[in-house]
Amino acid sequence: MHAIGIDIGGTKIAGALVDDDGVIVNEARVATPTGSTQLIEDTVVDMVTQLASGRLVEGVGVAAAGFIDAAQSTVYYAPNINWRNEPFQSRLSARIDLPIIIENDANAAGWAEFRFGAGRLVSDMVMLTIGTGVGGAFVTEDRLFRGGFGAGAELGHLRLIPDGLPCGCGQHGCLEQYASGRALLRMANEFADAGGIGQALAERRSISGILSGHDVAELIGEGDGGALAALRQLGNWLGQGCATLGAVLDPQLFVFGGGVAQVGELLLEPIRHSYLEHLPARGYHPEPEFRIAELVNDAGVVGAADLARVSARRTVPRNRA
Ligand SMILES: [Zn+2]
Repeated sequence: MHAIGIDIGGTKIAGALVDDDGVIVNEARVATPTGSTQLIEDTVVDMVTQLASGRLVEGVGVAAAGFIDAAQSTVYYAPNINWRNEPFQSRLSARIDLPIIIENDANAAGWAEFRFGAGRLVSDMVMLTIGTGVGGAFVTEDRLFRGGFGAGAELGHLRLIPDGLPCGCGQHGCLEQYASGRALLRMANEFADAGGIGQALAERRSISGILSGHDVAELIGEGDGGALAALRQLGNWLGQGCATLGAVLDPQLFVFGGGVAQVGELLLEPIRHSYLEHLPARGYHPEPEFRIAELVNDAGVVGAADLARVSARRTVPRNRA
């Protein structure tokens, strides 16, 4: 049986028809319509209709950034789209004759890694998606953790530094302010300002007046001392965050996704080092593994499709499942 996964991003909407093994059979992609949320709904309906055509489909999973309720139906709040308490599941259900669930995009990506990617051999894992911000997902005893209200595992807003840098969530010192792509750029700019090992970063910045993620990634690839030092700083903060998460969740595996994680071992090495330094009761606790996500761009659609399948096959009442 197939399921359909849709991933509504800030710039594009991706859709895929996915088989039982997490393999994409057919896919579609369009720019996210701007202006009215009705256009987004229309786009999703068209995409599902097109992907389902001539196929037996078990369910549809729609992933988006934001707080989704525990019933996987209402978007409480979406940062990229003007949704506030949006009953998106019932709006889609009125137009699509298939079981539909709505899921947080980081949860969908984490579930995909757990089922088909870096986490397929463990029962408990934490995934951190390092993009512009930091997304989180947590699988415990083979189940995706959502929390009582559906908005759990917002790991990017774990408080790392009391009275630290202000965060978009309204608080201060969140992990996201120290371990996101945006944080890496801030650190790279600080090295550029300081001179010394930051010289190449400063030269790159002087060309266009601004350092881009692409600039930093390129310098990391060239082994530039300043860019690597900024990356190490980021890894150090991530390791501290993981040590705190480890004390609560005790996962066997931490998985890192998102653009910044594509540097691989260069990021994992400082994370491991910092994790061990900050781990409570070090030496008396089994050490988890640290790995890079495997599904990269497809994780959102593959995870959303598989979660739709899990939901469609659930035969016991929700509160006993
Ligand atoms: Zn925050």
